[in-house]
Amino acid sequence: MKNIYTHIPGFPRVGAQRELKTALERHWRGELAAVELEAEGRALRARHWARQRNAGLDFVTVGDFAFYDHVANHIQLFGCEPARFGFQAETPLERYFTLARGRAGAPRGDCACGHGSANGQDSHAGHDSGSPALEMTKWFDTNYHYLVPELDAATHFELSSTRLFDEVDEALALGHAVKATLIGPLTFLWLARSTDATPRRDLLDCLLPRLLPIYGQVLARLKEQGVAWVQVEEPILGLDLPQEWRSAFDTAYWQLNQAGAPLLLATYFSPLEENLSLACRLPVAGLHVDGVRAAHELVSVADWLPVHKVLSVGIVDGRNIWRTDLDAALGTLAPILEKRNGQLWLSTSCSLLHVPYSLEAETALDPELASWLAFAHEKLDELAVLKTAIEQPGAAAAALAASRAAIATRRASPRVRDAAVRARLATLPDHAAQRKSPFAERRLLQGAKLNLPPFPTTTIGSFPQTPAIRSARAAYKRGDLDGTGYEAAMRAEIEHAIRRQEALGLDVLVHGEAERNDMVEYFGEHLAGFAFTRNGWVQSYGSRCVKPPVIWGDVSRPAPITVAWARHAQSLTPLPVKGMLTGPVTILQWSFVRDDQPRADTADQIALAMRDEVDDLQQASIDIVQIDEPALREGLPLRQARRAAYLDRAVRAFRLTAAVARDGTQIHTHMCYAEFNDILPQIAALDADVITIETSRSAMALLDAFGDFRYPNDIGPGVYDIHSPRVPDREEMLALLRRARAVIPAGQLWVNPDCGLKTRGWPETEAALRHMVDAARQMRAEWASEAASETARTAANAAANAALAAEPGPLLNKVAAEADSGTAEAA
Ligand code: GLN
Ligand code: ZN
Repeated sequence: MKNIYTHIPGFPRVGAQRELKTALERHWRGELAAVELEAEGRALRARHWARQRNAGLDFVTVGDFAFYDHVANHIQLFGCEPARFGFQAETPLERYFTLARGRAGAPRGDCACGHGSANGQDSHAGHDSGSPALEMTKWFDTNYHYLVPELDAATHFELSSTRLFDEVDEALALGHAVKATLIGPLTFLWLARSTDATPRRDLLDCLLPRLLPIYGQVLARLKEQGVAWVQVEEPILGLDLPQEWRSAFDTAYWQLNQAGAPLLLATYFSPLEENLSLACRLPVAGLHVDGVRAAHELVSVADWLPVHKVLSVGIVDGRNIWRTDLDAALGTLAPILEKRNGQLWLSTSCSLLHVPYSLEAETALDPELASWLAFAHEKLDELAVLKTAIEQPGAAAAALAASRAAIATRRASPRVRDAAVRARLATLPDHAAQRKSPFAERRLLQGAKLNLPPFPTTTIGSFPQTPAIRSARAAYKRGDLDGTGYEAAMRAEIEHAIRRQEALGLDVLVHGEAERNDMVEYFGEHLAGFAFTRNGWVQSYGSRCVKPPVIWGDVSRPAPITVAWARHAQSLTPLPVKGMLTGPVTILQWSFVRDDQPRADTADQIALAMRDEVDDLQQASIDIVQIDEPALREGLPLRQARRAAYLDRAVRAFRLTAAVARDGTQIHTHMCYAEFNDILPQIAALDADVITIETSRSAMALLDAFGDFRYPNDIGPGVYDIHSPRVPDREEMLALLRRARAVIPAGQLWVNPDCGLKTRGWPETEAALRHMVDAARQMRAEWASEAASETARTAANAAANAALAAEPGPLLNKVAAEADSGTAEAA
């Protein structure tokens, strides 16, 4: 009797060569007809199912494919496209892309981070006229972004798309055993946003009863089609759920079960904890659990789940790219198998959407490193080996031995561990993460040195990445342009950016990041311990993919990275030029991270490498250094109870990077999301001298939080949205600045855009920055006239400050003394 079945929760959908991306973009440009796009989708599905069957999986998964996003597929399946789009005669596919991309006049904004994630509420939304696209938000703690369903108390559902059923027929016609997959009703509602201020709880109360009959119809139809199983995904069972949501599971699944289709309830990304017994007792035929992130719960699940139900263990990591230690996996599975009388399903922990396709394309990768990795294809093979190893141990011996050898070389590899890095971390002095003096003192020193006006103006780092810059980089990578030629081209771009900033009248300049392709990749390419794949693409949203670096060994910085560029920029102008770095937490968050040590330890190693860069910049007379951390919030664990520990370590890693700065070196940080309220104490604990943040799209709402919190250091609330080419006028920015002034003391305010400008063109960039500089000047004038009419006490204060500025002797002496004393770490 066959006891072990294998399957996966889902497969990547963009194609091994990103065929879907190419087809989509051609379709959007009008170069590929809808029927041809559909044909490409069909071909991709057929290939992906064939791959699953050839790897020996017992079922192929149907319903994981999407032309843009699987949540958007469900919006059409349930007929809840928001009325605001006013659809009329459009085809379903046209409507689908309108939901995803908005209508003319409301383009989806692209962010300078290029990771599609750094945006309002961690999400993207159009804000111009026309129909803005649905908002986009991160899918749990992944870098995949889904389209947020918009619901309100009046939403009605109706079975409205046959796409899922058509795909099931397609797979059946190809002779596959089919497991269809659906997002579960509770997770679907949880992921939605309410557009009429109905609280989420009320939305649940009024919409769940309307949604369940539609699920009933879907399940009945799938059953009739002859699917073997229906996977119903409820990853929210791994979250801290309010009681009413937990109770809703009982009713919902009782009702779903009536359809008579065998249901596999799928959870992933997070342990079940207090929802464990709930998940085990729901009336479904099987339960899938994440055997990687919730490995410690496997035995309890095996005990709690009635034996007549199927237990699917996601034993192969679907979130990372390392080869599975198959011996260890078999060891984990042994007691479970025993408890389940030898009956078990094996799977990846979650959908393989989050890993690249195949190592086959990685011919340029170091062969030893490649032998330590497993992408989607290889993970399917690992499942097959595990199954064989359980069913006919002898037959898997060779495969197990190969896996064992790879695991052993990785574990013993001297390349992975760098004694110097380890020793340095182990012997860090206590004060290594602590700036020398408190902000109030640093501020005086920096003020004396930088001599900036009130409301100083600056930008976030990047200037437009023009076609000329891109083609120079491409030519350099192809070998058509040599190192000297490339460097000369980039130096000219930097000079160009500096001259334009001077002409605009900005106070703190940047070099413009012309030499950077991507804010993480660029640093990864210069750090030891990082590797880059040729084709390791992972979908971020729609047709957008990212190629995360692989951190495989101890991280160090063999040589300065940005110093020559920064020095060149500074040599061109008497105005201060801000050095520009990516912070350790963001580098970690946007990479595939080694699994043989805690993430926080890797973050510390990156922090030390970047700390050296901060130090070298200040030694090169760069007096302002910005350390970008747009992904700090993204790393928050799904469960509340783990957040404090994460934030502690994240803050420490940032501080470790920054604290090498002398008191007179001004540290900036930048974050681009508007959800700060819950992490304000930690943001303050970063102790950056200046933070620039996204605020314009939320009309500065976030500032109230900073004001209430009495954020102690300087703040640059973004005064204009860089995600669209629209040029806001001076008055609009002034209005935002005045609002900011109402809650933040004027002396703490900086004036800057929301984010970097690399996705913009020069004309709109210059126009907007000109208005921004005008707005800052107006603010200064207003402040000066207010100050003139203020009380005697304020006047006395101002006089004291003026005296200090006129006679900065002692302060400047302190700055000079510091410069002589070398780094804080050495001290
Ligand atoms: N310095 C980066 C830039 O301007 C910051 C990008 C980001 O935070 N997303 O491009
Ligand atoms: Zn940003």
